[in-house]
Amino acid sequence: MPREIYPSSYICDCGYQCDFSENTINKIRIASMKRKQGLIADDGLHEVIFDRGGMIAVYCPRENT
Ligand SMILES: [Zn+2]
Repeated sequence: MPREIYPSSYICDCGYQCDFSENTINKIRIASMKRKQGLIADDGLHEVIFDRGGMIAVYCPRENT
């Protein structure tokens, strides 16, 4: 399971840390209450998925994790 570091960072199962601004995360959380949202990380590969107001998954580009 990916880990959430309050308020606006997420750690993938592979160890990659996705950092976002708190402002961005607040907007995504609100938007995700209506429909599922995806946020691309700085590496352009990982994607943090939000649904119903919270993070539900981190998509990882590495296949064997
Ligand atoms: Zn990863």
